Amino acid sequence: MPPLPSNRDTICALASARGRAGVAIVRLSGPDALAIGWRRFSPRRPLAAPPPRQMLLGAALDAAGQPLDDALLVYFPAGYAGEPTVEFHVHGSPAVVEALLTALAETGARPALPGEFTRRAFLAGRLDLAQAEAVADLIEAKSLAAARAAYRRLTGALSEKVGALRGLLAQAMAHFEAEIDFPDDDLGELDRRAAVALLDQALAGAAALLAGGQRARLLAQGAAVAIAGRPNAGKSSLFNRLAGARRAIVHETAGTTRDAIETEIELAGAPLRLIDTAGLRGPENEVERQGVELAREAIAGADWILYVIDGAVGVTPADRQTVGEFDAARVIPVWNKADLRPPDAAFAEWRGVAVSAKDGTGVDELRGRLSAALGLDAAAGEALLAAVRHRQLVQTAQACLTEARRLALAGAGAELAAVELREAADALGEIIGETTAEQVLDAVFSRFCIGK
Ligand code: GDP
Repeated sequence: MPPLPSNRDTICALASARGRAGVAIVRLSGPDALAIGWRRFSPRRPLAAPPPRQMLLGAALDAAGQPLDDALLVYFPAGYAGEPTVEFHVHGSPAVVEALLTALAETGARPALPGEFTRRAFLAGRLDLAQAEAVADLIEAKSLAAARAAYRRLTGALSEKVGALRGLLAQAMAHFEAEIDFPDDDLGELDRRAAVALLDQALAGAAALLAGGQRARLLAQGAAVAIAGRPNAGKSSLFNRLAGARRAIVHETAGTTRDAIETEIELAGAPLRLIDTAGLRGPENEVERQGVELAREAIAGADWILYVIDGAVGVTPADRQTVGEFDAARVIPVWNKADLRPPDAAFAEWRGVAVSAKDGTGVDELRGRLSAALGLDAAAGEALLAAVRHRQLVQTAQACLTEARRLALAGAGAELAAVELREAADALGEIIGETTAEQVLDAVFSRFCIGK
C-alpha cells in the first residue's frame, strides 16, 4: 500500500450516499477547509466569513465561479475529524456533486481516501481505534440489533471494558514489580497472592468479552442455517413458517424443491440466511440428482442444520444414517407434522424439537433453540467483540494472563510473569489503537467507504 498522503492536506468527498437523492452533503476537512469552501460559495447576503456551526443559505459555485445550485454551508472550526470542516448541503444531483467536487479540487482540496476523515478523527484523539471501527460497523449494520451493538461500541463500551482490564493488569504489575524491587521483603508472598487475585479478575473479564463475541459476530455478519431432510418431510413448509411468508413451493409430490432456495430472516436481531434444500434421497432423475448435490453443498456450508423428520412416517433408517453423517454439534433435529403424530421413542432420544409447520405449534420453541444454539442469547454476554481483530487480541491477552498466573503460582521469578503481563497489556492496547502498527491502521481504515 502506498504511503498515506499528507495529513496537512485539505480533503474533500461526498459524505452522503452516491446517486440521486433529496440532498447531498459534500465535506471538506483540513487546515484550508474554510478558505477553499468559502471561495466556492456565494452567500445570499454579503458576509465576510461564515458564523461557526450555523447553516448559511447561498449558492455553491463551479470552477468558473458560476452558481451551480442552492446550497447550505456549515462551518465547524473543529469538525468530525477534529480540524476545520466545511459542509455543503446541495440537491442530491450527481452532476452538481461532481461539478462541486471538481471546483473544490481546483481550489486546492484533494479527494479523500476511504475512511480518511475517521482516520484523522482517530489521529486527533477524537475516537480511539475501537470506536473508529464501530463507525464502520454502524454504517454496515444489517439489523437494528447490530446497529445498537455498534453504537454501544462507538460510545466507548468496548474501550471502557478494555481500559478496566488494563487497569487490573497495571495493578498486578505493581505487585510483581514490588517483588522484583524488594526481593528480600517478607511481603513477597502477599504480593503474589494479590497479583494472582487480580489476574483471576482480568481473566474473568476477558472470558466475558469472548463469550459475548460470538453474539457480536452473528449480529454483524449473521449465519447460514440449512433445512435438510427427506423429501416430503415438510422442509419447505417449515422454511415458509420461519420466513413468515410463502417463499418456497410446497407440494405433495416428493422432490419438488430442486434448487437450494434461500431467504434472509432475523433471529434475536441477527441476520440469518435460511436455506431450504432439496430432499435428501436416492434421486430418481438427473435434475433431482443435481438438486441433492446442491443440497449437500448447502448443508456443508451452513453453520447450523435443522434436520426435519416427517412425523407422519417417523424416524427412518435413512434419517438415522444422514444425521449420523452430520456434525452432531451443528444439528437440531425437528419432528414435523406433530399435529398428525407426536414424536416417537426414536426421536425422543435425539432431544429435538417437535413442531407443526402447518399450524405453527412449536415453531417459537424451535426459534429459541436455534438462537441458543447459535449463541444469540443476550445471557451469553454483551456483544462487544464483533471484529476478528478484537477477538484475536483478547485471546492473545487471555493466553498471556493464563501463563502469567501459572508462573506466579509455580513460584517462578516475578520478572517472567511481568513479561507475560506486558504482552497482554500490549495486545489489549492494540484494540483501542494505543500500540497499533501503521499496517493495521491501513487495513482497518481501508474497510471504510469514501466520505467517512
Ligand atoms: P418438503 O418436500 O420437505 O419441502 O415438504 P413440503 O413442505 O413440500 O411438504 C410436504 C407435504 O407435507 C405437503 O403436503 C405439506 O402440506 C405437508 N405438511 C408439511 N408440514 C406439515 C405439518 O406440519 N402438518 C401436516 N399435517 N402436514 C404438513
